[in-house]
Amino acid sequence: MYDLVIVGLGPAGLTAGIYAGRRGLKTLLIGEVLGGQQSLAHVVENYPGIESITGRELSERMKRQCERFGCEIVLGKVASLELSGKTKKVVSDAGTFEAEAVILATGGRHRKLNVEGEDRFLGKGVSYCAACDGPLFRNKKVAVIGGSDSAVTTAVYLSEIASETYLIHRRDSLRAEESNQRKLRESDVKIIWNSVVQKILGSERLEGLELRNVKTGEISVLKVDGVFIEIGMVPTTELARAAGVKLREDGYIEVNEKMETSLEGVFAAGEVTGCVPQIVVAAGQGAVAATSAYLFLKGVYGKKADWGKKV
Ligand code: NAP
Repeated sequence: MYDLVIVGLGPAGLTAGIYAGRRGLKTLLIGEVLGGQQSLAHVVENYPGIESITGRELSERMKRQCERFGCEIVLGKVASLELSGKTKKVVSDAGTFEAEAVILATGGRHRKLNVEGEDRFLGKGVSYCAACDGPLFRNKKVAVIGGSDSAVTTAVYLSEIASETYLIHRRDSLRAEESNQRKLRESDVKIIWNSVVQKILGSERLEGLELRNVKTGEISVLKVDGVFIEIGMVPTTELARAAGVKLREDGYIEVNEKMETSLEGVFAAGEVTGCVPQIVVAAGQGAVAATSAYLFLKGVYGKKADWGKKV
């Protein structure tokens, strides 16, 4: 029996672990990928106090910090959650864990384009992770789909590996941060504006993309060896929904300022709550969720004893 089980090993979950461990809560963290989406970042340059670090190294550091404060970390896939009673159950392929409080920090996953060939060529030219698959495209031609920070940083990163890199965006302007757009301008990435991918083409492997210009309707084929789809995230809420946690209309978990969900003793943090999807924000929410869970477990939740005060 644990005091607290945290589902998710991204920055929200790992920070919640650090805070819970420091409060002396018997805490277990479970998730499939250490660091979650953070682990895929080629470089993180906006985490305060750290000028530049890879997502993987930042995740490793957070894990070590969690363990230093006594948390157990288990890699495993959660199959179901029982959250409505006093004792919560987290059922996974690594075992069933019971606790009096749970923090859901399940993050999000990549949005799919939903076009012909996307599933067929997954791992054969279609990728959602440049940090993982980018090196496979050395001196090859690649395209990146999207117009925000993930697409722009991915295109800049790939342009240092691939022989030619295209950025394909459905509009005529980018929504990425200016600092990322500046790096893009300084790179040799070729931008194809106002265009969407209609089909991913190939026989054994991906060989090209069928594009449609949304302004002119013109159809063209771009020959590439790989495509990186970077069109945003969707929250991972299936388990929470099935366990009766209230979701917002837009699909994210509903929380209040203490990161409480609709179920007593169940908190949520990070991208699954629809916060600004930044590591520092997810980490901040994780800290709040763990502090709230601690006060809940000590029976002073909602009373005068405030966050941060030792109970
Ligand atoms: P995002 O900001 O949600 O942007 C998704 C992009 O994909 C948009 O440009 C969107 O086009 C496009 N898109 C969405 N659906 C599409 C479809 N079906 N077909 C074609 N294009 C489609 O996603 P993100 O880039 O993953 O970023 C998520 C968050 O993380 C953002 O807040 C971002 O700032 C942050 N982030 C920051 C950094 C950094 O270096 N600071 C790095 C990565 C991510 P429209 O523009 O037309 O909507």
